Amino acid sequence: MMTSAVVDWGRCICAQALQHEWIDVPRTVDGRPAPLTDVPRGRCVACGSRVYRAESLGRVEAVLKGRASDGRLAGP
Ligand SMILES: [Zn+2]
Repeated sequence: MMTSAVVDWGRCICAQALQHEWIDVPRTVDGRPAPLTDVPRGRCVACGSRVYRAESLGRVEAVLKGRASDGRLAGP
């Protein structure tokens, strides 16, 4: 997985520049821990807001809903 790209998160609603960071999202697949790693996230150090890329959020949501068990995105 490519993790070298730097995401420009722009600015928070409070005008503070968002900081880029990689996080691990805990999840369980078939009863076993299988965390999503290297999920890009923007974080505001001023107000604590967290911003996810739509692409990543969709992947996380799909996992949390149990629609994707092996990293594939489920169809509509
Ligand atoms: Zn902020």
